Amino acid sequence: MEIVHTISALKVLLSPFKKAKSKVALVPTMGALHKGHRSLIEIAQQQAEIVVCSIFVNPTQFTDPKDLEKYPRPLEHDIKMLEDARCNIVFMPTVKEMYPLFPNIENWHIDLGSAEFLLEGEFRKGHYQGVTQIVKKLFDAVNPAVAFFGQKDFQQVLMIKNMVKFFNLNVEIISCPIIREEDGLAMSSRNIHLSVTDKKNALVLSKALHYVKNHISEINLADVLANAKRMINTTDGVELDYFTIVDGDTLMPITNRITENSVVLVAAKVGKTRLIDNMLLA
Ligand code: AMP
Repeated sequence: MEIVHTISALKVLLSPFKKAKSKVALVPTMGALHKGHRSLIEIAQQQAEIVVCSIFVNPTQFTDPKDLEKYPRPLEHDIKMLEDARCNIVFMPTVKEMYPLFPNIENWHIDLGSAEFLLEGEFRKGHYQGVTQIVKKLFDAVNPAVAFFGQKDFQQVLMIKNMVKFFNLNVEIISCPIIREEDGLAMSSRNIHLSVTDKKNALVLSKALHYVKNHISEINLADVLANAKRMINTTDGVELDYFTIVDGDTLMPITNRITENSVVLVAAKVGKTRLIDNMLLA
């Protein structure tokens, strides 16, 4: 496994594979890797010949500076995990490498469609501009044929697909299933901040999503939603931001009948940690 820190070193490393027309995949991460990230690497390995995993905590997508500051960065653990997963190349740039003028973070604003401002976009203003800004830079650096993202960040996948359309990029975007703990909690780098009690309380999120999935065909939609929200609102230490069933393409709420691409999404603060999760309803 090769580890590189600069775009030029990365390009040198990739050039023979590009010449040989090998299929290159990119798995972008912010590190603090867990089995969810590992599953992306494994899926990428099945579909490409060379897998590049990037580790970069991107400052432009954080709306809360404290969140950026306390974001976990267990480097040795991450490298060991990627070695075990037989990742080919790790790209770990500095902030200056990705934003040469930092703390000036350059002008970036693209049209991601109206879904940018819904759900996470409402709670984390500008978040998806920051996400697409760094993912575009990573795409430029790696020039992958295919890139893998987790369905865990449902809206993020949609925004990246919209960014790909905006620039007419030649990269395939693949959404990979959510990996969960045995008890149902969606794996997340942020789970490290959960206390034992928080972890117990957080289970209500996946339980409420399962409740919706299991009951949506029996009871009417408004009642299912109300019951699921009640489950969350009556759990100590959990503060709901949203719990909603939407169309997976527009993110607009579904009001009567669910469709093939309906998805139920939740965001909540558990203790001091904000968690998101979702489940496809088809
Ligand atoms: P992050 O490091 O949190 O930016 O995540 C990097 C990638 O891993 C993103 O595409 C996430 O959606 C994905 N990811 C995070 N958690 C999970 C999970 N539990 N299951 C599958 N993919 C995940």
